[in-house]
Amino acid sequence: MSEQFNDVIRFIREYYHQPEGPIALHEPLFIGNERKYVMDAIDSTFVSSIGKYVDRFESMVKEYTGAGHAVATANGSAALHVALILAGVKRDDLVITQPMTFVATCNVINYVGADPLFIDIDKKTLGLSAAKLKEFLNQNCLVSKGEAFHKSSNRRISACVPMHTFGHPVELDEIMDVCKSYNIVVVEDAAESIGSKYKGKHTGTFGLVSAFSLNGNKTITSGGGGVITTNNATLGKLAKHLTTQAKVPHPWEFNHDHVGYNYRMPNLNAALACAQMEMLDRFIDKKRELANQYKTLFGMMGLEFAVEPKDTYSNYWLNNVFFRDRDERDAFLAYSNAQKISARPVWTLMNKLPMFNNCICGDLSNAQDAENRVISLPSSVKEL
Ligand SMILES: *Cc1c(COP(=O)(O)O)cnc(C)c1O
Repeated sequence: MSEQFNDVIRFIREYYHQPEGPIALHEPLFIGNERKYVMDAIDSTFVSSIGKYVDRFESMVKEYTGAGHAVATANGSAALHVALILAGVKRDDLVITQPMTFVATCNVINYVGADPLFIDIDKKTLGLSAAKLKEFLNQNCLVSKGEAFHKSSNRRISACVPMHTFGHPVELDEIMDVCKSYNIVVVEDAAESIGSKYKGKHTGTFGLVSAFSLNGNKTITSGGGGVITTNNATLGKLAKHLTTQAKVPHPWEFNHDHVGYNYRMPNLNAALACAQMEMLDRFIDKKRELANQYKTLFGMMGLEFAVEPKDTYSNYWLNNVFFRDRDERDAFLAYSNAQKISARPVWTLMNKLPMFNNCICGDLSNAQDAENRVISLPSSVKEL
């Protein structure tokens, strides 16, 4: 076994031309206009929430994704928080999501006073399973006066938040269809999937509202940052309003008509974001090339490598392999980390965390299997 482990370590060290030092799971790469734009933002003195880079970044996101409206935010969690407000999620509602996600997905559900309802992932996409969702809703839920209710708790289910795990798009058509039949609003947690497409259309353009992240460990970064996308003009306007303290425009008066948030992306970060957007396609080409190499390597070892689902184009944010069982996974984690190679397990399932362990769950066997066996491997973009 350690012979096989060693082949993986050797491959990673050769790929990154890094014979000894530490190799991160995902680190950013600044080889374009990053310095130029950030210096320009400083020189302009517009470093905060107003400035041309914020507007430019929002235009670039609209053009790149095809979304009708884009609103830049301080981070992806803030984007997702506002997305849930825009989707109409209210206190004591249930919000469907997958147990295998980053904790921010569930935290924002809590911020609006709702609770997650966990539905299993699909083995192929590693994101929310359309079949499991349909089965759960058919067995446990009903529609009354146009709203979905979970029968045994008598709680309203207002939204469903599928997450495009590691950049691989979920089964969007099927999930949208099931949710439509129960009048459940879809909010895509597209934090990890900038550049990923489903049937040729960009993720984050299917749900009523969606959220992307540009955190330092994502495919492209603005230091910290996020963006809300929607095709609904009213919600697009409201997104900008709520993220800017809900201030009523006026040349000098301070009036606010909602509880708002200081969630706007600063111009300094937007400068970085614009330069990274220019690199996005080249980064994804590189990431897909690396994914292909990992796929060949693990294929020869008889291990299952997570490939982009049918009908999708994945950004391959993180590359993932299934080991045979939890013991083998743990052995690989110990082996690789002892050699300063940052392999990582997937997140502990959300339904096991103390904040969410009383939440309603469907059958979660696929998520449990993935938690036991999946390892994320170093996936940074190598110098072009
Ligand atoms: C990164 C991430 C977020 C949050 O983004 P931040 O920019 O770190 O706030 C939310 N959901 C998922 C699935 C993520 O991976």
